[in-house]
Amino acid sequence: MSQAALNPLDSMMSRFDEATKILGLDESTYNVLKYPQKSVMVHLPIMMDNGKVQVFEGYRVVHNGYLGPSKGGIRYSMDVNQDEVKALAAWMTWKCAVVGIPYGGGKGGIKCDPRSMSKGELERLTRAYTAAMFDVFGPDKDIPAPDMGTGQQEMAWLMDEYSKMKGFSSPAVVTGKPLVLGGSLGRVEATGRGVMVSTRSALAKLGINPIGATCAVQGFGNVGSISAKLIASQGLRIVAISDISGAYYNADGIDVDDAITYRDASNGTLDGYKKATKISNNDLLTLNVDVLVPAAMEDQITADNANNVKAKLIVEGANGPTSSNADAILNKKGIMVVPDILANAGGVTVSYFEWVQNRLGYFWTEERVNRRADRVMKQAFEGVYQASKKYGVSMRIAAYIVAIDKVASTMKLRGIY
Ligand code: NAD
Repeated sequence: MSQAALNPLDSMMSRFDEATKILGLDESTYNVLKYPQKSVMVHLPIMMDNGKVQVFEGYRVVHNGYLGPSKGGIRYSMDVNQDEVKALAAWMTWKCAVVGIPYGGGKGGIKCDPRSMSKGELERLTRAYTAAMFDVFGPDKDIPAPDMGTGQQEMAWLMDEYSKMKGFSSPAVVTGKPLVLGGSLGRVEATGRGVMVSTRSALAKLGINPIGATCAVQGFGNVGSISAKLIASQGLRIVAISDISGAYYNADGIDVDDAITYRDASNGTLDGYKKATKISNNDLLTLNVDVLVPAAMEDQITADNANNVKAKLIVEGANGPTSSNADAILNKKGIMVVPDILANAGGVTVSYFEWVQNRLGYFWTEERVNRRADRVMKQAFEGVYQASKKYGVSMRIAAYIVAIDKVASTMKLRGIY
């Protein structure tokens, strides 16, 4: 993390503070919404393949449940810590409120390096975590999903372990499951699709023709690669992509399908990709492009490099890719930022559809899922855009205003004892 990067919790809180001041939120409500409602930390002893027991730290934070059961992914990474999980949980509260789905916010994580673990070790870890969080999780209480380092397989193990403990199959306890276990069509692509819809909406407001506009995408996992593919399908030219191995630039455009095929055949990374020039990850962020999509991790655009960002539009695929000390710099430069809590909300929207389908026991076509998700994303974008005009603030602060206002009014109606 660079010197200018902030703890994600500090970044989240500084935007929260700014938005609550503009809203004129009273002190009592401010204090309630500032803290998570529940924060659980567990130590998970796991028998590793070498016969030794290793103890892992696991977290689950429920930030807020006023709008409905808390919802949020589970991250497997060595960077996981309580403050990060708290920030991510709060972001989920605001994200669900911005797009108007009946969920609160939660998040979980295990401090581990999933790439160095065997499938058996990952299964035992996921099952141990599920058992430890059995009282926290539940289709009406707290519903996990994938995040960095986890995917459909972990969600399948989680669903199975929870169902075994319950005594019956409970698919609605988790989303992002494989299709055969009650997953939703369109879920894998949902976050990237929402990034694409947000990009289109923002370009229309900026008067930029998508055909021939240029775009750089940081991160080439679920969100980055699918965002790149779908943004390219709208006529934009993807001139740079990146992952943990570095960044790859081609002014004539990168064939995203080809890069995905290369990644899938090369242990999941772009390392050695030859159809583009290798540049640094920081160079990618400061390329002269129309659109920049940070879709890797937190704190990538900071006070250190924000001055050098040349994109006209930033669409945040990742959670927290811009630290709050970069906001003012980007605003001053007139760069429109579609904030994470809006831009990447397509994933949680289709997670909500998955949960609805699980509870109905009736499954929708992909066309229906996409049509409904696109509508949610477009309406949410328009709502935030109108709020940004009404209050004279950035899209980010407008998104927080919309979300906090909604959660605060719900809280007041429900009452506090
Ligand atoms: P992922 O694990 O599938 O992919 C992460 C990608 O980022 C990989 O390509 C990795 O190599 C790359 N990366 C890691 N460190 C990097 C670095 N320093 N520089 C450049 N690239 C780097 O994860 P994902 O699911 O795509 O999630 C990415 C981000 O999007 C996270 O912030 C996550 O919280 C957020 N997000 C994910 C979803 C979802 O549905 N998966 C939904 C909303 C938000």
